[in-house]
Amino acid sequence: MSPVIPIRAEALGCADAPVLRERGQREVFCGLTGIIWLHRKIQDAFFLVVGSRTCAHLIQSAAGVMIFAEPRFATAIIDERDLAGLADANEELDRVVTRLLERRPDIKMLFLVGSCPSEVIKLDLSRAAQRLSQRFNPGVRVLNYSGSGIETTFTQGEDACLASLVPVLPAAPAQAAPELMVVGALADVVEDQFARIFGQLGIPTRFFPPRQADALPPIGPNTRYLLAQPFLGDTARALESRGATRLPAPFPLGVEGTLAWLAAACDAFGVSRERLDEVTRGARERASAALTRQRVQLEGKRIFFFPDSQLEVPLARFLSREMGMQLVEVATPYLHRQHLAEELALLPADTRLAEGQHVENQLDRCRAEQPDLVVCGLGLANPLESEGLTTKWAIELVFTPIQGFDQAADLAELFTRPLTRRLKLAA
Ligand code: SF4
Repeated sequence: MSPVIPIRAEALGCADAPVLRERGQREVFCGLTGIIWLHRKIQDAFFLVVGSRTCAHLIQSAAGVMIFAEPRFATAIIDERDLAGLADANEELDRVVTRLLERRPDIKMLFLVGSCPSEVIKLDLSRAAQRLSQRFNPGVRVLNYSGSGIETTFTQGEDACLASLVPVLPAAPAQAAPELMVVGALADVVEDQFARIFGQLGIPTRFFPPRQADALPPIGPNTRYLLAQPFLGDTARALESRGATRLPAPFPLGVEGTLAWLAAACDAFGVSRERLDEVTRGARERASAALTRQRVQLEGKRIFFFPDSQLEVPLARFLSREMGMQLVEVATPYLHRQHLAEELALLPADTRLAEGQHVENQLDRCRAEQPDLVVCGLGLANPLESEGLTTKWAIELVFTPIQGFDQAADLAELFTRPLTRRLKLAA
């Protein structure tokens, strides 16, 4: 197997390509959805949504399928009140939090998560978090962020949550040796694999968010960070305001993306490409062999991405370069040109990129193109299936471990499965 290919030597791809910017009705989950994976990641944290019955319904129906002895999320329902009732609302919130923390001494970090009802917008949750943090200090840290559908889409909930955590990260000593911070929630199995690889490469590494509230990674000018997810713009800004430096890289999806992501860390920490080649050879060869088998089913197939998770650009790069798929349209809620620069450089030069959404216009384009596979949110999938199109739910791509060499075949299979199902139904 050839050693690591320097990504920057590639053709420019569509780094400077024009982007179709759309503003209109959106079909995307709100940022509350992030609680579903975040509550599994930070194991002694609790997410208290301050919201309406609609928010409670969303969270329960989306996350309620996961059985825990004690849940780690709940909704404090704020009913309609006028401004005069705000003092009561604050008292009620304090009462709910006090009762919760008395009953659940295992909670070490509590997030108050804002939502869109006007009664909640009137409440100052950051002051409430400060007040409650003082009251429960030092046992419990109380933070707040917004998962409101007015301000956030789907994966932006994680960005808002992590950005709220950055100010409380401990300061690394000025003379501390450089450390790598991997930023973005990864499934534990994926995190363990990366921890092993970075260990073999001799790169001191911490993961953010941590699994325990008291294991917050220190940060300072010697912190180099790698984004593990492409939707962390606010978190990145907050990390940089504390002196950390981002290592530009594609995202760790597929063999090529994972290798280039690890290579960025190796370059920053003075680890040779030969050592990277040696450490990753076995995993790469296994993953490449598995992808070769999957490629047969995907090669030449045309795929259309509706904007949903912000994973669309790295996924499109993986599917076009490693699986031979043709990209009809790659739409994403937000296109962060800086964080996606290495990805955009690897897309075919004529890729149709779109940012934002005007769902009706986009549906028209999709119907006109009749792609083989459509990646979209739950709300669009059933209507498109009934029209004869084959769909993949974008939400599955966020809930499934897909990063790293060992997950590359699982990632490809997420796209082959709906095509196989369609074939079986036709037969
Ligand atoms: S935050 Fe807003 S969009 Fe999300 S569930 Fe609550 S009301 Fe609906």
